Amino acid sequence: MYDPLLDKEPGVGSPYPQSYWFAKQAGPLSQHPSLNDDITADIVVIGAGYTGLNAARELAERFSQQVVLLEAHQPGWGCSGRNAGFVLKGTGRLGPLQLAERFGIKQAKACYAEYQHAFELVDALQQRGRISCQRQAPGYYKLAHHPRFLAPFQQQLEFANQQLGQSLQLLSPSELQQQLPDQQAKGALFDPDCYGLNPLELVLGYADMAKQAGVTLYGGSPVLSWQTPQGLHRLITPQGSVRAKKVLIATNGYTPKNFHPLLQGRLLPVLSSIIVTQPLTADELARCGIQGQPIVMDTRALKYYYRLLPDGRLLFGGRGAIRGRDADKPRYAAQLLAALKRSFPALQQITVDYQWSGWVAVSMDDMPHLYQAPQDSPYAGVSYAAGYCGSGLSFSALAGQRLAELAMGQSIPLLPCYQQPLRTFPFARWRRVGQRLYYQWGRWQDQRR
Ligand SMILES: Cc1cc2nc3c(=O)[nH]c(=O)nc-3n(C[C@H](O)[C@H](O)[C@H](O)COP(=O)(O)OP(=O)(O)OC[C@H]3O[C@@H](n4cnc5c(N)ncnc54)[C@H](O)[C@@H]3O)c2cc1C
Repeated sequence: MYDPLLDKEPGVGSPYPQSYWFAKQAGPLSQHPSLNDDITADIVVIGAGYTGLNAARELAERFSQQVVLLEAHQPGWGCSGRNAGFVLKGTGRLGPLQLAERFGIKQAKACYAEYQHAFELVDALQQRGRISCQRQAPGYYKLAHHPRFLAPFQQQLEFANQQLGQSLQLLSPSELQQQLPDQQAKGALFDPDCYGLNPLELVLGYADMAKQAGVTLYGGSPVLSWQTPQGLHRLITPQGSVRAKKVLIATNGYTPKNFHPLLQGRLLPVLSSIIVTQPLTADELARCGIQGQPIVMDTRALKYYYRLLPDGRLLFGGRGAIRGRDADKPRYAAQLLAALKRSFPALQQITVDYQWSGWVAVSMDDMPHLYQAPQDSPYAGVSYAAGYCGSGLSFSALAGQRLAELAMGQSIPLLPCYQQPLRTFPFARWRRVGQRLYYQWGRWQDQRR
């Protein structure tokens, strides 16, 4: 599997991963042709995931720009077409209370308002683009895997409900058992608004909207090198090139090694893996006792997340291998299946029909960043949005919009994540060593009684 920390090129026109989402597609997906000419544009966007597609559409639709979007494979081939489909009110790894501790209450409120805006934008785009993406009834449980998380849950609830106008509920172990009898859970924080959907349908819907707005989308067109003749940018693909004054980088966790100095050593691509079981029988469904089709995540340092899919299968995910070449090893799927069975012992006989992985982009300070190079820098005209830390489905739509606004000289909200570039990892060459140490610490932490 492509490994962004080691590979200088992302590949060309690789097929979509054999995910459950891909298998659910009714027919063959449309193939966007590759660029095989030398052309010019007002703006080039690199990467056709949620971020790049929304940025490109905004630029064409609102700012009447001539936009070329270059994707190494096909739209949604990266994280956007293979994630778990949780639509959450947040991004990065910091909740509102942690944002308040780091930046003060006023900034935490402003960040939260932006996240809420992103959450609502995803809804509005589904409606405007008539994107049917198997949206499920809302309900999100954050499970405490240990009782020590219940006191912080209470503080989070008070802050969210009193300061942010939310309506979170704290569920005791016995209340939780009535709704979600996960044998590993010691209570939960419940958000009634967040929901699950089919992420591949969503990104394909965004791609249709971008094309309708006039974006020219090339698939099978990785940017392999980058020249800057006379204040212009010239992006070279295997069979063509594009010249433009402005370039938006939306390659996120799939950004190849040494791709651009602005992103050098500033992201840690981390594998998240998913299994999807066979459909549960009526008896298995009754015995595991999940009410509704909620989305669920736990408090572990190495988190597990799961949801019941519309056809009665369980999707279960968590951290996978460290290196891309190990991603498909059966032991990672086996570890997820074992964790699923610890949560639902009634499912001892369940088997797995699908398994896949993807690269989430972890940032040094646990937050995403949008950044535009200053006009007097050698990289003038280049901007990026990246580092959603595995929680970017909703935020990416707004990040794309903000990126477009930034490129067009509009002002965007003064938030910590919009005012600074991504921080460089100290000893960036040794990021994987740090990751291994973190995983060891995480396993110890998660088993601590
Ligand atoms: C297994 C998994 C589960 C997840 N679950 C959730 C979830 O439930 N909820 C949630 O909020 N978030 C989730 N995420 C994270 C979420 O999917 C991402 O934050 C989001 O999709 C990022 O979108 P993006 O457009 O920024 O990047 P991507 O969708 O990754 O798009 C980047 C694109 O850039 C392309 N590219 C890279 N290099 C080049 C190049 N040189 N030239 C041209 N193109 C290039 C890639 O091919 C790729 O298509 C999950 C991620 C994974 C991997």
